[in-house]
Amino acid sequence: MIIDTPGMREFGLWQGGEAIDEAFAEIDELATSCRFANCVHEHEPGCAVLVAIGEGRLPRERLKNRRKMEREAARTEGRRSPAERAEARRFAKMVRNISAETIARKSAESWR
Ligand SMILES: [Zn+2]
Repeated sequence: MIIDTPGMREFGLWQGGEAIDEAFAEIDELATSCRFANCVHEHEPGCAVLVAIGEGRLPRERLKNRRKMEREAARTEGRRSPAERAEARRFAKMVRNISAETIARKSAESWR
């Protein structure tokens, strides 16, 4: 749960929507099995994400954190350049392969 460390959360907010999609890729994977393409995983029938939470395959916190980060990202996304978006996407992919400790350090450096 790299994304749930405090430093990572702040870095994720800064990175924006693309980073969120990458970091929460398992939710997107589940969402492809939702009955409705526009499912927001709240109380829709046939929602695969809610089923996964109910069965303990996805921590409820993950969905909550994603919503929170999406709200934050929506506030800053409009000010982002295409280059910044691409960078956010590259970073997000990298995040999944390195340790939480490394992330925390990078996050701290970026805020200096
Ligand atoms: Zn759903």
